[in-house]
Amino acid sequence: MTEQNIHRAWGPEPRYPTVASIERSTASEMIAIAGPCSVESKKQIEEIARVVADAGCKYFRGGTFRAGTYPPAAFGLVRHLRDYMAEAAVKHGLKTVMEVFDVRQIEDSPADVLQVGARRMQDYVLLNELSKQKRPVILKRHMGSTLAEFLGAAEYLVRGGKRNVWLMERGSSTHMTHVRWDLSVSVIAMLKQTTGLPVLVDASHGSGRRDLVLPLTLAGIAAGADGYMVETHLQPERSLSDAEQAYPLKDYPALHAEVLALWQFYKPKRRRTV
Ligand code: PEP
Ligand code: MN
Repeated sequence: MTEQNIHRAWGPEPRYPTVASIERSTASEMIAIAGPCSVESKKQIEEIARVVADAGCKYFRGGTFRAGTYPPAAFGLVRHLRDYMAEAAVKHGLKTVMEVFDVRQIEDSPADVLQVGARRMQDYVLLNELSKQKRPVILKRHMGSTLAEFLGAAEYLVRGGKRNVWLMERGSSTHMTHVRWDLSVSVIAMLKQTTGLPVLVDASHGSGRRDLVLPLTLAGIAAGADGYMVETHLQPERSLSDAEQAYPLKDYPALHAEVLALWQFYKPKRRRTV
């Protein structure tokens, strides 16, 4: 089956009837999510929260359960770091975004928004459980999944009636060697055609390079994204994880302003169809 046949899975029935039926509502605000790849210390998280909140960002991300591609990069769930993050967010009026790795972490998580990481996109047990959650859920596309597989995973979240699901494009595995993953901008444009759910661009993982984070975030917004996620750090090169893609915190306010200006430029055109 080709991607052109994406609206039909087997026979005439779409494989994601609920996702496809969700109507787009006009967003009043761009969704901005920023924070470090990993929460490292109370001081680090407090400083990043202050800067991103002052810049106008509303959602604060941070990894408190590390599960890197290779085992040495992983160090498990660190509860006191999670508490630092929640405290800093409250202090600066931010909402928190944290990843859940399995069903046992859902109820326990203090996050305002729960994230399904790329590697768990097709964990249907997790998706079924999250579909019962009142909190918004971010679903990241797996780096090797097709658009149809991504929409199929989203269907698990929305088929019971849940609507606060945000779809995030975070780049594909690629033969290119200048990037770690290659942002699939066409996925963003296709998601906007296929469903009314909010679509977000993650150019941090979607490139693995800090110098590409701003241009690719802008590309995602131009393709129709309703917001973005960016990893940022006080001293990018000293970041405990994903150092190559960490965006300098001092430059974050300018990034947010530039991305917001583009989002506002396209806002009146958002309802446009072909
Ligand atoms: C993340 O956003 O913290 C993350 C690990 O990203 P991904 O699941 O896309 O690799
Ligand atoms: Mn990361």
